[in-house]
Amino acid sequence: MTSTSFESDFLVVGSGGGGLSAMLAAVAAGHQPLLIEKTDRLGGSTALSGGQLWLPGNHYLAEKGIADSVQRGVEYLEDVVGDVGPGTTTARKRAYVEGGLRMLDLLEREGLEFVYSPSPDDYPEAKGGTASGRAIEARLTKRSVLGEWAPLLRTDTLLPLPILMYELKDVELATRSGAHLRRSAGFAYRAVRAKATREEYMTLGAALVTQLLRTLRHRGVEPRLETAMRELLVEDGRVVGAMIDAGGRRSEIRARRGVLLASGGFGHDAARRRAEQPAPIDGSWTATAPGDTGDGIDAAVGLGAYTSNLDEAIWVPAPILDGKPILGAWERSLPHSILVDDSAQRYANESMPYMELGQKMLARHRDVPAVPSWLIIDSTHRKRYPLMTAGPRITPKKWIESGFLKRAGTIAELADQCDLDPDRLSATIDRFNGMAKVGRDEDFHRGESSYDRYFSDHTHEPNPCLGAIESPPFYALRYYVSDVATVGGIVTDEHARVLREDGSPIEGLYATGTGTASVTGRIYPAPGASIANAMIFGFVAVEHALDGIGASRPDHRPEGLR
Ligand SMILES: Cc1cc2nc3c(=O)[nH]c(=O)nc-3n(C[C@H](O)[C@H](O)[C@H](O)COP(=O)(O)OP(=O)(O)OC[C@H]3O[C@@H](n4cnc5c(N)ncnc54)[C@H](O)[C@@H]3O)c2cc1C
Repeated sequence: MTSTSFESDFLVVGSGGGGLSAMLAAVAAGHQPLLIEKTDRLGGSTALSGGQLWLPGNHYLAEKGIADSVQRGVEYLEDVVGDVGPGTTTARKRAYVEGGLRMLDLLEREGLEFVYSPSPDDYPEAKGGTASGRAIEARLTKRSVLGEWAPLLRTDTLLPLPILMYELKDVELATRSGAHLRRSAGFAYRAVRAKATREEYMTLGAALVTQLLRTLRHRGVEPRLETAMRELLVEDGRVVGAMIDAGGRRSEIRARRGVLLASGGFGHDAARRRAEQPAPIDGSWTATAPGDTGDGIDAAVGLGAYTSNLDEAIWVPAPILDGKPILGAWERSLPHSILVDDSAQRYANESMPYMELGQKMLARHRDVPAVPSWLIIDSTHRKRYPLMTAGPRITPKKWIESGFLKRAGTIAELADQCDLDPDRLSATIDRFNGMAKVGRDEDFHRGESSYDRYFSDHTHEPNPCLGAIESPPFYALRYYVSDVATVGGIVTDEHARVLREDGSPIEGLYATGTGTASVTGRIYPAPGASIANAMIFGFVAVEHALDGIGASRPDHRPEGLR
């Protein structure tokens, strides 16, 4: 049944980072956009994410005395991303870096609060790369600032404590120095204090989304939840709105200046993942939000949009516990660990950036079963470092009893439990131990990049990523290829306009985020590059569709974020 139509300036489909930044840009400039969200929660994958924004040349860097510029940011993207399809043009790379700074200016004028979040670019040694990092992240934010919207926020626990992303290093290395331990104790105190005051502190992506929503609420935006875009409306070759479905009722939303598809990727579309992505990927191990089912891609393709890089995702090698991936870059990078395939052989630098390691696992799997692989650690690792959600020395009994974590007194017994060839596994470990002792991984160069060394134990010598696997008991854990986003999809230009194969734009139609062919192509260049990609091209779309962003009035800034 179709009911009457509703009129707006601009229709934004999806309430993740891409949709929310577009909404903010539009309302701040005095327009009346409409936000629809398919699920009953706001925030999409963005609210579940690490929450960093990678913004080369941002002012937080300058305040720390770190030299950076737009030019260096573009140079870096050119070097590491290259030209891997129509999403990765130089014009789009420049639009990302320049648009990112304009967007940050708007977010701060609107009262969002960030801190510098030091962690290196994924390829710091590349041209234009940096080991200092260029990411920022939202400050800890009280959930209560959302008022009656607080229950509408999509949340899940990525970190067990109210800490910022860059503070995780202290927790990982709490047993390794007094300074890390003291700071970790401070986080525990922060958690206790929060509990005593009954305040729920949002961090990471949930903090970013909380701050965005708070500002939108303050500006009088009324998002429509459980309202799905079903198809796009076209008149005279121009997109003028969409058919929506809210609780089985279909209606038309007319959008004078166009439609932005910010409806996420296709993490949960098993059929498309099987068809487009490398085996054995089918979406079962994805960490993306449940609404990411590729609706925007379908709608745009229906109008003749071109797609690219559909086989790609931000892969994150991870164990799966109770059906959920436990994401983290630390345990496989820290010393006293290796990753082996079913032939008990190493095949990659375990400390490398997660997207690239996932690509290596999938490539290896074509020749030797490697998905899942086995992460093997010894008891020195277990004594010194956290393992997923377990603190150092505390190994949950049920992990062992359920077989999730294998434990054995000898390498041969461990191999037996994992169905690996014991002689092969011993030979692999002997070779690795020899290289660890001299601090040089001749096979895969682990620990040579400052990225590798950041995610490792700087107190460990001679190479912070290499430690022998020699202290029993030994442990093994299955590692799958999870993902936090699909990054191929609709091809867009530097204004976020949706393009046909001949390069012409579909008038009135814009797209951003994980449903588009990312400007970062087949690589994850730095922490926060994916969230920033979604938010920047949402912002850029509004600049184009609504003819520039006006200066927001200071009296709209909400007070008292923390
Ligand atoms: C656990 C996790 C950790 C991550 N960590 C990082 C990180 O540290 N750094 C980084 O850069 N990236 C990270 N990512 C990836 C990052 O979150 C995404 O790339 C980015 O946030 C995507 O934003 P988006 O707006 O494109 O999509 P989303 O945030 O997924 O939002 C899309 C929204 O659209 C809605 N929607 C879908 N279809 C429709 C429809 N038909 N009608 C209406 N609404 C619809 C969905 O329900 C969803 O709410 C992480 C992701 C996850 C899951």
